Amino acid sequence: MLPMRLRASDHQAHAIDRGSISSTPGGDPLAHRCDSSHFLRYHQTWMSHAFQTDDARLHPIAEKVLAGKRLSHDDALTLYRTGDILAVGWLANHVRERMHSDKTYFNVNRHINPTNVCVAACRLCAFGRKKDTPGAYTMALEEAFQTAASGYTEAVTEFHIVGGLHPDLPFEYFLDLISGLKQRFPQVHLKAFTMVEVAYLAKRAKLSTRETLAQLKTAGVDSLPGGGAEIFGDRVRHIICDHKIDGDQWLETAKLAHQIGLKSNATMLYGHVENDEDRVDHLLKLRALQDETGGFQTFIPLAFHPDNTPLQHLPKTTGMLDIKQIAVSRLVLDNFPHIKAYWQMMTPKIAQISLRFGADDIDGTVVEEKIYHDAGATTPQGMRRQELMRLIKEAGREPIERDTLYRPVTRTETSVTVAV
Ligand code: SF4
Repeated sequence: MLPMRLRASDHQAHAIDRGSISSTPGGDPLAHRCDSSHFLRYHQTWMSHAFQTDDARLHPIAEKVLAGKRLSHDDALTLYRTGDILAVGWLANHVRERMHSDKTYFNVNRHINPTNVCVAACRLCAFGRKKDTPGAYTMALEEAFQTAASGYTEAVTEFHIVGGLHPDLPFEYFLDLISGLKQRFPQVHLKAFTMVEVAYLAKRAKLSTRETLAQLKTAGVDSLPGGGAEIFGDRVRHIICDHKIDGDQWLETAKLAHQIGLKSNATMLYGHVENDEDRVDHLLKLRALQDETGGFQTFIPLAFHPDNTPLQHLPKTTGMLDIKQIAVSRLVLDNFPHIKAYWQMMTPKIAQISLRFGADDIDGTVVEEKIYHDAGATTPQGMRRQELMRLIKEAGREPIERDTLYRPVTRTETSVTVAV
């Protein structure tokens, strides 16, 4: 039998026990609660981190989680629908610590967006531009190489490369971009092109998706990011990104990438017109593919930023939804090694709290984020390594600098070493 939630007065007593309340206006706060056996009982409960909830629907789910059993579709829906975020967070944190203890991963990376010109017109997007419209840009290759080398003082271990679906750039541009970056920065991992971009390049080059991926890999692509997944369900996709490949094609492209030895991430854009059923469907499709290929490294829930998009009438996500999304993802995606709290989209403060609600990764230094800043993100466009480490340590976690494949990175004043 799992213990029930403590009453508010118990929490206050705990605060007193921990020495954080010494007096309150109007009287002695200890007068009616100074019972050492009560404090001890509470403290033992707190110290043992017993699961507590008033929501009876969570008890069978908790029993499954503690036994390491897989959660069902209905369990996932219940997790989204309960108001007890602390209970869901407790369970997600339990799994996170079982998998990673206190370890929290980050990397030193740089974003490169070679073009924002895009034939699609996704309603979720504030980044893409039609050719020859104000703000549209396409980097010449040399410009992209200079961008890669600029804007940071610490050696990066990853370039994250994504952009629009350009109607005129030939496939060779992208192969030359990748091989040129690899030649100039051989030590840097190239995480490049979403499944949506890969499918579009294949169409433009009149190649199969497998052959396109194979040529990108030969040119130097080391892994793929997880973007473009949005929400897999057709109803939502028709509203937010009608011009993109559908959910099945996204999953099929990821499967092919995994089959030829390219790892990838996976994302879910939440906080727009989707509902709980859509989110659960999305997570379960990813979990099923991961069972098949094992090629996903990290799941990244992305909070929708509506500013400057055709959906800007929608409200922004709340902290409650952001944190719940992290926690439910950790619990449902039992075969994903990592859950990332992407600080650029969630804000550093929510990302930091998420490290206690299931997340074990906080992303990286980024250096120059464009896509979500076009959509109104107010976070800095990059963060220094020391600042990321401070966020992690203040959450009581152990910062581990990683490369893209989660191998530990060791730095000295003059060198960067990846443990292989
Ligand atoms: S989300 Fe991607 S594919 Fe859609 S319009 Fe924006 S850049 Fe283009």
